Amino acid sequence: MNAPITQDVVTIPRKLPEGPTNLVGLTRAELRDALIAAGTPEKQAKMRVGQIWQWIYQWGVRDFDSMTNLAKAYRAKLAEHFVIEIPEVVQRLVSKDGTRKYLVRIAGGHEVEVVYIPESDRGTLCISSQVGCTLTCSFCHTGTQKFVRNLTPGEIVGQIMVARDDLGEWPIPGAPKDETRLLSNIVLMGMGEPLYNFENVRDAMKITMDGEGISLSRRRITLSTSGVVPAIARTAEEIGCLLAVSFHATTDEVRDVLVPINKKWNIETLLEALSAYPRLTNSERITFEYVMIDGVNDSDADAHRLVKHLDGIPAKVNLIPFNEWPGAPYKRSSNNRIHAFANIIYQAGYASPIRTTRGEDIMAACGQLKSATERARKSRKEIAAEAGLPAAE
Ligand code: SAH
Ligand code: SF4
Repeated sequence: MNAPITQDVVTIPRKLPEGPTNLVGLTRAELRDALIAAGTPEKQAKMRVGQIWQWIYQWGVRDFDSMTNLAKAYRAKLAEHFVIEIPEVVQRLVSKDGTRKYLVRIAGGHEVEVVYIPESDRGTLCISSQVGCTLTCSFCHTGTQKFVRNLTPGEIVGQIMVARDDLGEWPIPGAPKDETRLLSNIVLMGMGEPLYNFENVRDAMKITMDGEGISLSRRRITLSTSGVVPAIARTAEEIGCLLAVSFHATTDEVRDVLVPINKKWNIETLLEALSAYPRLTNSERITFEYVMIDGVNDSDADAHRLVKHLDGIPAKVNLIPFNEWPGAPYKRSSNNRIHAFANIIYQAGYASPIRTTRGEDIMAACGQLKSATERARKSRKEIAAEAGLPAAE
């Protein structure tokens, strides 16, 4: 045995239960450990990490044989131990307005949706952090779905790689550098509560921000939380991205119902944690997301209370017309109401854009992710059962 003695004590976190390890989603330190465990001499490990990292995240390469700056024998050794895998796209829908929605399958056969929203000056990818959600916000369709599991760092960063594949946005070696990016911004606003999957989200975002790879600045990443107060300072320290908060109500009484995590950390506690965030990250304003629900949280008095809450916090308000889903207990506020509400916020000196609903024809709107697919799945099965046929997968 001439394997390094450290091999016995090296643990490779997140190794697939069987078969080769997926390198996508490993931190640099984990990648180093994995390479050493597979026989890479320790002295070379740092350099190999850099080379492999660049192939995966900068060039979008998926097979070891294309890693032409590595010796052939070493490439073969890597192929024996490792794979470079991202979630598989099982459905791709393109809206009239250019919005793209991908249904991707992850280990265990679970599926999550990823949405790409092109705009004139940017392209935003909305990614998920969990399958389902442990929380039960009463206006959110994800909240009605069972929590299945946390996504791994590879599955989180893999959603970005899926979109770059589809957009054809991996650079071609030797080609002139093109600064305009189709995929320029990330929002963690898909399924799940990112701060209840903190480590995996952090590691995935570290990979996304790494200058030798996907290389998106921390100011182009927005993490949306329902208000997991103890994790907010940690987000500032360990990720440093922009923050959005699902605020949605101006009294504890209403917020307890809409965003039940409020019973654990109420508005006052949440505002305290938020007010420290911009200073900690030396960054811009916090986005207060506010879903406009008819007769529940959309009065003038609510708008005035919201302004009071924002006092002293660098903030902007993003008004989201409630997206109705089948069986939802609420209705969307009227356009007039939304504009009147926006005007009060604006007059108080805060930006208050109304989020336009994109990709409506492909059910890509906020809070609707996955729902259409689940319904489609169910009805196909039901149809098969009625016809006495085995359900096709
Ligand atoms: N769990 C995190 C991130 C995912 S939700 C959070 O709650 O912030 C992303 C955004 O979509 C949140 O602001 C959420 O409140 C909003 N949302 C959920 N369901 C919605 C619906 N039916 N209509 C409009 N916005 C919705
Ligand atoms: Fe979960 Fe966010 Fe939906 Fe609440 S709004 S149930 S935290 S995904």
